[in-house]
Amino acid sequence: MRRVRLLVFNPVLNVLDYRVPDGMAVDLGSVVIAPLGPRQVLGVVWEPDRLDGAEVPDAKLRPLLEVLPVPPFPAALRRLIEWCADYYVAPLNAVARMALGSMAALRGGGTATEYRLTGAEPARLTPQRAAALDALHGEQASIRELAELASVSEGVLRGMLGAGLLEPVTVDLDRPYPRANPDFVQPELSEQQRAAADEFIAAVDGHGFQPFLLDGVTGSGKTECYFEAIAQALRRREQVLVLLPEIALTENFLRRFEARFGAPPVLWHSNLKQSERRRAWRAIVNGQAQVVVGARSALFMPYARLGLIVVDEAHEVSFKQDDGVRYNARDVAVIRARFEQIPVILASATPALESLQLAEAGTYRKIDLPSRFGGALLPDVQVVDLRIEAPERGRWLSPRLVDEIKDRLLKGEQSLLFLNRRGYAPLTLCRHCGYRFQCPNCTAWLVEHRLSRRMACHHCGHQVPVPEECPECHTPDCLVACGPGVERIADEVAELFPEARLAVVTSDTLNSPEKIAEFVAKAEGKAIDVIIGTQLVTKGYHFPELTLVGVVDADLGLEGGDLRAAERTYQQVAQVAGRAGRGEKPGEVLIQTRHPEAAVIAALVAGDRDAFYAAEAEARREAGAPPFGRWAAIIVSSEDEKEAREAARAIGALRPNLPDVMVLGPAPAPLALLRGRYRYRLLINARRSAQVQKVIRDWLGQLTFPSGVRVGVDIDPYSFV
Ligand code: ADP
Ligand code: ZN
Repeated sequence: MRRVRLLVFNPVLNVLDYRVPDGMAVDLGSVVIAPLGPRQVLGVVWEPDRLDGAEVPDAKLRPLLEVLPVPPFPAALRRLIEWCADYYVAPLNAVARMALGSMAALRGGGTATEYRLTGAEPARLTPQRAAALDALHGEQASIRELAELASVSEGVLRGMLGAGLLEPVTVDLDRPYPRANPDFVQPELSEQQRAAADEFIAAVDGHGFQPFLLDGVTGSGKTECYFEAIAQALRRREQVLVLLPEIALTENFLRRFEARFGAPPVLWHSNLKQSERRRAWRAIVNGQAQVVVGARSALFMPYARLGLIVVDEAHEVSFKQDDGVRYNARDVAVIRARFEQIPVILASATPALESLQLAEAGTYRKIDLPSRFGGALLPDVQVVDLRIEAPERGRWLSPRLVDEIKDRLLKGEQSLLFLNRRGYAPLTLCRHCGYRFQCPNCTAWLVEHRLSRRMACHHCGHQVPVPEECPECHTPDCLVACGPGVERIADEVAELFPEARLAVVTSDTLNSPEKIAEFVAKAEGKAIDVIIGTQLVTKGYHFPELTLVGVVDADLGLEGGDLRAAERTYQQVAQVAGRAGRGEKPGEVLIQTRHPEAAVIAALVAGDRDAFYAAEAEARREAGAPPFGRWAAIIVSSEDEKEAREAARAIGALRPNLPDVMVLGPAPAPLALLRGRYRYRLLINARRSAQVQKVIRDWLGQLTFPSGVRVGVDIDPYSFV
């Protein structure tokens, strides 16, 4: 009799044994359906000796029901999943789940039905139908997805289907993607670019594990260089994964990719339509998807023959996942490359200190692109001391910055104002009674958004319309906005320069590929004079007429619960500064700050990156912070405050007493209430030598918690909120 051990996708059970019925072909890694009690469960066949679990006697084994028609998870992927579960102290099946597409994708190809507008003229139009007609122009998706897009009920759409306003379309789920051609365009590389590209090409040919840190200033052509590595992998018929930190950046990337390779890459991210998701996942597992561009979740897919991984803007915090399995996609990308025995390129103009350290230690091979392509100069950076050159009352732009914007407007050049705060104002209060608008679910103020006339919580999404009167004392027209967000800066610019054409760029305004494309086209076509944006505009864009960058508040990043606040500020300002002067005209950057003497500001002004990293490294070494020491966090939460507090105390009481592990807390988290859950945190600071994961597993393993309590572990945390 043949037996197999499964990793099963069940919240309570992880490992179960089964019998293989005669005639059923099962391999290691096969995705199967098995019986579990009266129900069925999905599982992956695993090496029995690698999964802990009591062996079920032969007589009690139940037979597998079915092997799903997808290629088995390759061994390298199984090892990656094990590594992540072990390193991030996460359940194996929670990690493995990230490799699965939808159930539909596992079931096979075939067809799906989608719907689109017929273009028929309706006789009678309800407001909802009118709204749907408006919103669904050019869209094609399932009824549920269309309903979401148009913000109407599915019933409305079914009615429209009956009335002949919508029609069904059959789509083939396995229709192939257009082929990318490695030699579609042969770029002329500069000498330094050629040298970098040649190293990557050799590594792709060598087909062994080789991590690179591609450290090149903004505008040096990092993308062009790693495109050559992609071309080589394509010639070898291997798949390539390119990780980008945000979907907003892919628009720009897609255009460049298509110009270089003659076809778009395959996209993978959380906003894909169901049918696109199915198609992409299936193309990835059967090898038809040549180049996959995605957010961090693309990292765990079962690629058929992965030959290269690229992580662009590798320093970005959005590669860190902060819920569910808490992992860092940048680090996991390197581990995946090791298991797959392939090269991985981490590209950045402002690498994380951790990456630089690994390069210095020789673990990563560092490739430098020290100058901008085509001889463009890096911009001139100056500081505006807000204590001396203060803006007028109720304004946020200093006279000098205003003068520079005016100068650009006169010359027909573009300016970019950077403030990493969405909305109009971060805090709204009542002038009369002092009432402050706070989120009922979170320890956070509600942020006023004038464009949408709402007060919104940026943590849980809670929203209310902006009221006419104070909810507390009922005085009408008494609300005052405190502090600026990008919308308020835009108002200020509009008042100063009524004729200037403005664009506010945040995740609220640029929330679809179409809107991003529209913005890029306008900015490139000189139809925008001043861009006001959050971190969304700091990366990836190349606007040759942009010659002024104003950093509205450089001190913002230094406040708040970020463990690497100085590094983050350095990266953000350096990246946004990198948008200036990318064409023929030189760029200028003005940094507004109240702390011009801070090491990070001084380094930015002096353009002395090495000095900044040296100072930052010294500070981290002293604090035992990464990369010199290790951090981990334990986050305890419950809807019941007392329950959360007691669980955190119980964990604290059993803290390990070890020479190389220090435990701080428990203490209420800075975000003490988040999405209706009360939160406590413990911070672990350990020496590099300590086996942090084992310590935490043994420690928490002694405890049991009430069912309402969640205990999360965050290894190498970024944020401390
Ligand atoms: P980075 O990613 O390092 O900031 P990019 O790859 O975006 O730099 O390149 C900056 C600009 O220079 C882009 O517009 C790109 O098209 C252009 N560029 C870079 N290298 C070349 C090249 N070898 N030939 C033509 N244009 C190039
Ligand atoms: Zn909230």
